[in-house]
Amino acid sequence: MNSLKVELIDKQALRHGDRRTLARAITLVESLLESDRQHAQALIQEVLPATGKSIRIGITGSPGVGKSTFIEAFGLHLLDQGKRVAVLAVDPSSPVRGGSILADKTRMERLGRDERAFIRPSPAGGAVGGVAQRTRESMLLSEAAGFDVVLVETVGVGQSEHRVKEMVDFFLVLLLPGAGDELQGIKKGVVELADALIINKADGDNLVLAENTRMHYESALKLLGRDEFWQAQVQLCSSLQGAGVQEVWNMVLAHHQLGEAEGEIQRRRSMQNIAWMNEILIDLWHQQLRLRASFEADQKLLEAQVVAGKLTPYVAAKRLLGGIQ
Ligand code: GDP
Repeated sequence: MNSLKVELIDKQALRHGDRRTLARAITLVESLLESDRQHAQALIQEVLPATGKSIRIGITGSPGVGKSTFIEAFGLHLLDQGKRVAVLAVDPSSPVRGGSILADKTRMERLGRDERAFIRPSPAGGAVGGVAQRTRESMLLSEAAGFDVVLVETVGVGQSEHRVKEMVDFFLVLLLPGAGDELQGIKKGVVELADALIINKADGDNLVLAENTRMHYESALKLLGRDEFWQAQVQLCSSLQGAGVQEVWNMVLAHHQLGEAEGEIQRRRSMQNIAWMNEILIDLWHQQLRLRASFEADQKLLEAQVVAGKLTPYVAAKRLLGGIQ
């Protein structure tokens, strides 16, 4: 991989929302080269005052639920409202280098063609934590480029949905008509993360079932009884026909207005940033430890002693931290 120079990134063009410059800046952020990471951080630091002005929305759901169809319909609706939309993805499982089935332009053809939209697939490879971190940074760059709404897409079958929840203001879970989380192919607990549940494909013969599904989830959500400023809502939608899409946006706006008025959006983002900083701290600490030539050998030795019941995990970890004695 060639090292990208930060000087090649025209900050004026980025601030003016040039999509090619944004794409280049994100490539820099995604690079795993240490020199690129430093350039990327310098760039983000420089544009930081211009970040934070978008509405950040996470979208999850099992494969086939209609995420890309929904994002296309929702994104086009936002363009009609005069908004500029960035779509990013978190997909740590993607085996294909440089590409992913998530946030793929060919799946959102009309949106991808529009100058006012920006679509970026998941950074290739790596653990969920690293992919999520790079997506957060891409989100900041998208904001600096003036995108009003950032959609972060992920598949609701792993851990990535928790990561996405931690980086957005509003979290949408897409479901199919038909009750029961296990039927939906999404992991238990994902519904609990939702600010809104969208029953997609509520059209044709599915309409009655969709209505029943809505009632099922409305009572399930009441039982959860989160005492936050926002009570999660259920919305029927046909992404294919466009029905319900406007209502979803109205819901996001209502949440945003209420959240801003009550200081909740700011509070949530502050907490997310502190958690993010602490996560990076632990990563850096690990990296630092690994610089010690004997680290891996020490680690193996101590692991063996833990497995053999000779050391407690706590004592082993402390020894590893201090260098073995
Ligand atoms: P994803 O894997 O979650 O991104 O799902 P896709 O957006 O690729 O959609 C999977 C299939 O469901 C496609 O054949 C879509 O045409 C279809 N689909 C998506 N949304 C709707 C909808 O609202 N109604 C109906 N009937 N089909 C839909």
